[in-house]
Amino acid sequence: MMMAAPKVKISKFVIAHRGAWKKQGLPENSIASLKEAIKLGCYGAEFDVHMTADSVLVINHDHEFLGMPIETSTYEQLLAKKHINGETIPTLESYLKEGIKQKKTKLILEIKASEISKERSITMTQKVMQMVKDLKAEKWMEYLTFDDAIGKEMMRVGNEAKVSYLNGEKSPQELKSEGYFGLDYYYSVFEKHPEWIKEAKDLGLKSNSWTVNDIKIASLLLKNKVDFITTNEPELLMELKK
Ligand code: MG
Repeated sequence: MMMAAPKVKISKFVIAHRGAWKKQGLPENSIASLKEAIKLGCYGAEFDVHMTADSVLVINHDHEFLGMPIETSTYEQLLAKKHINGETIPTLESYLKEGIKQKKTKLILEIKASEISKERSITMTQKVMQMVKDLKAEKWMEYLTFDDAIGKEMMRVGNEAKVSYLNGEKSPQELKSEGYFGLDYYYSVFEKHPEWIKEAKDLGLKSNSWTVNDIKIASLLLKNKVDFITTNEPELLMELKK
């Protein structure tokens, strides 16, 4: 008898922060961490985008990749450094191409603001949205940013792009009126404004909280009906019922 492939249950709320890396000792924001988030059945895999000196879009959290400044290095120069698993810095193109091989896990793309100029942030945003369009990846995408100008540019050029705001100071009403898809706030913001989760829901906005690695905090957020939780411990949080 043929054995059926084990079915992966897809989480309704767990987003793997920088991919799923911690438990397996993988590098954050690597293709390996994306594949692990997909394998686990996370709702989404979050990742961060920067742009090199020669305008290549790459995936990394910090403005430096293993000690090299991304914005003032060329992509070629960054290839001198490798993640511990042997991967070079992923390009956005390679990351998206891997992500759209499957249909379950969303790709949660954060754009990091340029440290050089506001203009560079906007150019980078336009390039990101164009690449998503070129790869026909729109259906997989949700977007994040701390930077309001980037968020507004994402919404302006993206075709109904789902953009959530990270910085924590805007109320759900404000975000709604500006066209945002949701609020993705540090969990202490929701402790200070517990009413924002319900207000967001009533306005049709999605609420997400980061970076929640504690089961008690996650349980409380779920009890308050948060939509998504972004975590470094996806395996742990996926045990929780929504
Ligand atoms: Mg991020």
